[in-house]
Amino acid sequence: SGESGDSEGETYTVATDNNFVPFEFMDEESGEMQGFDIDLIKAVADEAGFNVEIESMKFDGVVAGMQSGRYDIGIAGMTITEERKETIDFSDPYYDAGLILAVDASNEEITSEEDLAGKKVGTRSGTTSETYISENHPDAELITFPGIVEAYMDLESGRLDAVMYDVPNVKYYVNNDAEGTLKTAGDTLQGEQYGIAFPKDSELVEDVNEALQTLIDNGTYDDIYEEWFGE
Ligand code: GLN
Repeated sequence: SGESGDSEGETYTVATDNNFVPFEFMDEESGEMQGFDIDLIKAVADEAGFNVEIESMKFDGVVAGMQSGRYDIGIAGMTITEERKETIDFSDPYYDAGLILAVDASNEEITSEEDLAGKKVGTRSGTTSETYISENHPDAELITFPGIVEAYMDLESGRLDAVMYDVPNVKYYVNNDAEGTLKTAGDTLQGEQYGIAFPKDSELVEDVNEALQTLIDNGTYDDIYEEWFGE
């Protein structure tokens, strides 16, 4: 857990995912969470005049933590879905994402989602990819993991034929962590947008939306984007 902010305002607890590069992940050197979402929520807090205390956990813990009201805010590359909106509130969208496949760099057999029948396809439990695979590819063998890095490792060692996950996470892992062993396959499968999450009827939604808009208008959002996604 990490505290941030020096304003006189309230301190809110923020639940985040413990491993979703480059949005949120543990910096081993400092022992602090870092990433695009971490910088964004700190900037939102500064702008809106509150402090944040960040706690990291498994992704499905963030969703559950919003539903139970255990945390005030959730930021975890969380896709805004109609189903989640029944139990959670979201800010305005702050990032356009989608889903894509990763395969072994030498794989010529899987070039799109049309090739998944009978294949072992890994993803992370409680996510939009899990829903997408179960709904659209009932004849693939779906294998879920608590963390997506475990799925990538099983793909690298040949225990999986493909992994389906969020485009920015797959691309970041393939380009920075996989050391040439993996590649993407096919196009973006489903457009998605990330939103900051809140327990239902939270009074923070409006303040956070206003702060987000200010950060977009004054260039702070672009600076943070550039830092994590720039060349
Ligand atoms: N965007 C995906 C979802 O909301 C996965 C997010 C994540 O792993 N942090 O289900």
